[in-house]
Amino acid sequence: MSAMLMAIYFNGMNDDETFSLVNVMLNSGTILKFPQSNSYICDKHSTGGVGDKVSLILAPIVAAAGIKIPMIAGRGLGFTGGTVDKLESIPGFDVSPDLDIFKQWVEKSGYAIMSQSNEICPADKKIYDLRSKTGTVSSIPLICGSIMSKKIAEGISGLALDIKIGNGTFMKTKEEAIKLGSWMEKIGKAFNIKTDLTYTNMDQPLGRFAGLSCEIKEAIECLKGNGPDDLMTVTLELGSKLLLQSGAATSRSDAINLQTEIINTGRGLKSFENSVETQGGRLDKFDSENKPKHEAFIYPEKPGIITNMNTESIGWSLVELGCVMKNNNDILDHTAGMEFLRKTGDQVKHNEPICRIFCSNEKKLDRVSRSLNSAIIIGEDHPRNNPIVY
Ligand code: URA
Repeated sequence: MSAMLMAIYFNGMNDDETFSLVNVMLNSGTILKFPQSNSYICDKHSTGGVGDKVSLILAPIVAAAGIKIPMIAGRGLGFTGGTVDKLESIPGFDVSPDLDIFKQWVEKSGYAIMSQSNEICPADKKIYDLRSKTGTVSSIPLICGSIMSKKIAEGISGLALDIKIGNGTFMKTKEEAIKLGSWMEKIGKAFNIKTDLTYTNMDQPLGRFAGLSCEIKEAIECLKGNGPDDLMTVTLELGSKLLLQSGAATSRSDAINLQTEIINTGRGLKSFENSVETQGGRLDKFDSENKPKHEAFIYPEKPGIITNMNTESIGWSLVELGCVMKNNNDILDHTAGMEFLRKTGDQVKHNEPICRIFCSNEKKLDRVSRSLNSAIIIGEDHPRNNPIVY
């Protein structure tokens, strides 16, 4: 399988080959059906980033609007974090239910999140793991096969895809991202799924935190109405696509207002809490089981302005801290992560920290502290601001 992945990575695939790959991966397992449901069934997926916790915020909001989301999510991939790994920081949270149970959860809570399994997209489960090890993650056909097989297997009618562009994702340029996006759109169409693309910025970590349990905490803050602008902008934009597809909103501004109202009235948070409880998660034990044993602050080497964040390198530092498995037997450190106290364009002073990093292994903390400084570039001129949503 490694040889096949490398052949695909180096040679690419033509249309027929890419469709075949998606088909074979899809049919390696079961395809869900929701014949009894009267609701619009849809999902959102991102092509991968650092600090990307959008699914954790969007799913409860959109479900609170009466839409159903049966989300099959991934673990960490390469230097990017995985939704399933983050959710497992909630004690008891089950990401591997039987499919009948999963469907019941979706009916009950409006949304549920599970991992690829031996029953659903088993080919993606195996290939996903090998892609990191063989350095073949950024291949367009492999990304299409991975994402679209999971989404089609969900039995959805609509999909909002977040195609990330920048130094913290697999597609570093607009041209590459557009190529990936148009492939995904073509596959969505071929499988009769209404597919909307949104291109978003991944030139720095999304939000204030990146890691495992700290991203769950940040998602909860967003659902309480305290989310940072960049993260909320991406979340509401993608959520709008699903609300418009379903007919729950008739214009983009309608859709943004509806989501804001769901947050402000606490319905988004309630939806999240219900779903966590349904999946066996114990939020009452979350804080006490996710306290990092060690933390360190990163200070700038000189005063100035943050002109660039090497987000891939920050992602690899997170892998090093224990936020992504490098090998099958690795144990994740759910307490590990980073808080970005300053971001691109911010003024920094010598004696003010720019980043806080934390985990429960002191040696790893020391190693990462030393390497992280070079990933955050300080200069004198304000950087050119790329938009959050292109
Ligand atoms: N997310 C996935 O599920 N697969 C990819 O290949 C990239 C992001």
